[in-house]
Amino acid sequence: MSESPSPCDGCTFCASRCTDGIMISELEFTRIVEVLRELPLREVHRVLEQSKKRVWFEEITYTACLFLDNETDRCLIYSVRPLICRLFGRVKHLPCPINKCPADIDAREILKSYTELPLHTFQQWMCLHHMFNFEDLLGIKVKPPCIEI
Ligand code: SF4
Repeated sequence: MSESPSPCDGCTFCASRCTDGIMISELEFTRIVEVLRELPLREVHRVLEQSKKRVWFEEITYTACLFLDNETDRCLIYSVRPLICRLFGRVKHLPCPINKCPADIDAREILKSYTELPLHTFQQWMCLHHMFNFEDLLGIKVKPPCIEI
């Protein structure tokens, strides 16, 4: 899916929507793994090693996406972020939290095809590919919290 021009300039107001458990396709998994292996190891290590526990309105805690940098609220794998992340702020049911982007994409057809694919979380795809920790995946040691399946 190509992206139409957007007024989004990469602010971080939507970071709190980056929650754990996002379902992705196998192709997306493969592309993310490729990018993780190309990124500076120190940076990958720093983000994956962070606690992903976050607070919502001072009361509720939740687990953020594995790839959300909890220090900067930026996405570690932004260039290959999954479809659902690309649609955020661009479709009516996932509106931009600061109304900066028009929700003008009709993604019904692409979502119909996409949801017919096998979809799993990144961690589940790792297991399906016989990668049981980030050392298997990247050849680096990552302290817990690492994989929560
Ligand atoms: S992959 Fe990136 S954009 Fe998508 S939920 Fe995770 S941190 Fe957010």
